[in-house]
Amino acid sequence: MISAEEAYAETESQTPLQFYGVFASGIRPDLSPPSAPGASVIWSGLTDNRRVALTFDDGPMPDWTPRVLRALARHDVPATFFLKGINVLHHGAIHRDSNGTHELGNHTWDHPDLARLDYAECTDQLARTSTIMQKVFGTRPTLFRPPYGHIAGSSFHRFAQLNGL
Ligand SMILES: [Zn+2]
Repeated sequence: MISAEEAYAETESQTPLQFYGVFASGIRPDLSPPSAPGASVIWSGLTDNRRVALTFDDGPMPDWTPRVLRALARHDVPATFFLKGINVLHHGAIHRDSNGTHELGNHTWDHPDLARLDYAECTDQLARTSTIMQKVFGTRPTLFRPPYGHIAGSSFHRFAQLNGL
């Protein structure tokens, strides 16, 4: 049995990757995160301390969200919850005391892959969720997490426009 490193080295030596001296498209890929006026993608925070940001997606749901909230309260730990609008509609009361302690973000209405939606559908997903969150919690979300981590250009720009980030 060989280690993963040995297997990789063996494969690499047998089938070296071809390099033509330029990127295949002839255009250098843009490796910077997407940006729009007044909005940015947050991958991590700047800190000198070792810290962890806790986030929970897809709720609120009556089975697990109250248990998570109780555990966080027991340890006096804030977290960020990225909520589905349809779940806020049915179970939003679960987070009635979260404002001021936790951050509540937009995670679309019913969790589609926004990269597969057109502009109007994308707008509907984001706007309906922000509207129900405003109605239930009294504030509009300023954070957005795209389902599956797909940051489609139109969804990012649309969220920036809708929320004035
Ligand atoms: Zn999700």
